[in-house]
Amino acid sequence: MQQLKNIVLKKNTVVIKIGTNLLADKTKGIDAARIESIAKSVCSLRASGKNVAIVSSGAIGAGVAAIGLKERPRTIPAKQATAAIGQPLLMEAYEKAFRRNRQPIAQILLTKDDFSDRARFVNARNTFAALFEKGVVPVINENDTVAVEEIKLGDNDNLSAMVATLIEAAILIILSDVDGLYTADPSREPDAELLRVVEKITPQIERYAKRTTSELSTGGMSTKIQAAKRCVASGIAVVITNGANPDTIESAVAGNIPGTVFLPADKTLPMRKRWIGFVSHTKGSIVVDDGARFALAKRHKSLLPSGIVEVRGDFRARDIVSILDSAGIELGKGITAYSSAELIRIKGKKSVEIETILHRKAPAEVIHRNDFAPTIEYS
Ligand code: GLU
Repeated sequence: MQQLKNIVLKKNTVVIKIGTNLLADKTKGIDAARIESIAKSVCSLRASGKNVAIVSSGAIGAGVAAIGLKERPRTIPAKQATAAIGQPLLMEAYEKAFRRNRQPIAQILLTKDDFSDRARFVNARNTFAALFEKGVVPVINENDTVAVEEIKLGDNDNLSAMVATLIEAAILIILSDVDGLYTADPSREPDAELLRVVEKITPQIERYAKRTTSELSTGGMSTKIQAAKRCVASGIAVVITNGANPDTIESAVAGNIPGTVFLPADKTLPMRKRWIGFVSHTKGSIVVDDGARFALAKRHKSLLPSGIVEVRGDFRARDIVSILDSAGIELGKGITAYSSAELIRIKGKKSVEIETILHRKAPAEVIHRNDFAPTIEYS
């Protein structure tokens, strides 16, 4: 497909996400042959001048096999301990496979906070840039061992989308044990059709991605679609494909479609707004009236206190919050100039009244238009 080929030609960076089911078996542990075959493909992309980052699951899966557990652990401390056991084994397998190809690699472990904090986000971006400059392939996983619930991303599909956004990749290739997105579950419905090209992620597409889970992995198809949504809105193409086929990575980069491709949106937001909209995490929400909804969504104006009807959650000034209309539909996310406590006092009021109420000099806008990232529209 020429369009996919052009996308990959325009930008230099490729992110490859590899699921647990491809890498780790409950009894046999890490599949070294699979990692070797992936390493070979990655090295051939490197030889053609691409920067490649790998997001690899499999730490918990490898840990399960290493200590002979019967199933994936369920409690957080048990998962963290199992990941701590499996992660070095996973890296050892990558290190071995890449060393054979004289390709240096680096381990990067991230949590949600590394993306939500703007300074850490920028810092992480600089680290990736420095690694690419040295010709290194970063191998990324969630820092499962320290990630407690509040800072946990939970699935590597979304992690890979956030990494792709962070490093402004051309394409995210999600290697899975399924061939792509089907119209129904192909193991139950023989008529299920594999979708080849998705131009827009409509509610129908989301319905196709009914949740599927397997014993060792986390996400299923629905987290892959969430990841695709994040990427396409940032101008990144996504391919979901079966990683069991050794040629699959090179095929995708050459523009052949070995599974389902999600084409990037034509119009994308500037990098700062992408960070607000698709990478950071919200600390609360603000419900607005119809006037403010129209001003934000259609006229691209700032949010003023007069349009606020409700404040949910406990947040500070400069936190990122979600903006909801009266029906609870998210209009977008933005950086609030006021804390939740202050907003409760100024909601519904005119901007000129703010200083008298709060006894301090204060901006007229609660969320400035430059600090607002609209939710992607599907219709
Ligand atoms: N970080 C987890 C692991 O390496 C996997 C999460 C996922 O599969 O999405 O085991």
